[in-house]
Amino acid sequence: MLSIIIPAYNEEKCIKKAYDAINSLLIENSIEGEFIFVDDGSQDETYRVISELASEKENIVGLHFSRNFGKESAISAGLSAVSGDCAVVIDCDLQHPPEKIIEMYHLWEAGYEIVEGIKRERGDEKKMHGIGAKLFYSVISRVAGFDMANSSDFKLLDRKVIDVLNKMPERGFFRAISFWVGYKKAVVEYDVAERVDGESKWSTRGLVKYAFSNITSYSTAPMQIVTVLGMVMLVISVIFGVWALIDKIIGRALEGMTTVIIITIFIGSIIMISLGIIGYYIARIFEEIKGRPKYIISSTTKSKRK
Ligand code: UDP
Ligand code: MG
Repeated sequence: MLSIIIPAYNEEKCIKKAYDAINSLLIENSIEGEFIFVDDGSQDETYRVISELASEKENIVGLHFSRNFGKESAISAGLSAVSGDCAVVIDCDLQHPPEKIIEMYHLWEAGYEIVEGIKRERGDEKKMHGIGAKLFYSVISRVAGFDMANSSDFKLLDRKVIDVLNKMPERGFFRAISFWVGYKKAVVEYDVAERVDGESKWSTRGLVKYAFSNITSYSTAPMQIVTVLGMVMLVISVIFGVWALIDKIIGRALEGMTTVIIITIFIGSIIMISLGIIGYYIARIFEEIKGRPKYIISSTTKSKRK
């Protein structure tokens, strides 16, 4: 059986459309499927729509979060609820073309354990977001050590992979973790479609935060930059020190006030940035060590059935 995991945040209008589109494809290709809708603490009627649908149809499970925990958590919850032999994660807005699920499924039948959806076109997005995404993917591909350009959350995973992911306690970045785990991979290219309804849930601020937290969860490079900066500063200060000494010896000592101010400001800001970066990692350690759950499920449609 194929499980379809659909994270949904304020998607009341998209739920039914996504279900109909995907379900009819599954029937056409006689694939047995189950739908796991994870309502990520929506403020609109998303969960009501999901539960109504779940009471009509056999093959739907709905989970409702107690608040908005983010798409990563929603995917996590979905993966924990999978009862199929493999699962596809797909957006609710049908920007990931549902036909590709069938292609992915056939690749899985052929023995691949992870089928990655790779974007051919990035679709409609703000220009700034496009440039930001390019920069983010080049940084994260480098620090994580695998090429993740144009990757997305649209993937099919084998049961084995799902079990491994479910055992990982860390708050990872789904897209990167599925690269990290290895396994036999295939790729399916797709064009990003227009959203069927509603609007994108991402703000520029949200995207920047998302990028930074994913890079730091994959690499300690920013912390090493701090060490490198320290060494560079040491070299510079030795040069300036020698210079200052020579000035003193030949009796020109009082002149360098501007230099002193510039150096003080410069060093001060580097120290502050460095402390900030280190602080950020400590904060991440703190978050992980508290061991709070990645999400809280406040209701599900499972109990209602039977
Ligand atoms: N989503 C979610 N939690 C969030 C934000 C988004 O579960 O906090 C879901 C959303 O409902 C959709 C998917 O993640 O199914 C992708 O979101 P969106 O379409 O807003 O992002 P974009 O396609 O613009 O990257
Ligand atoms: Mg979208």
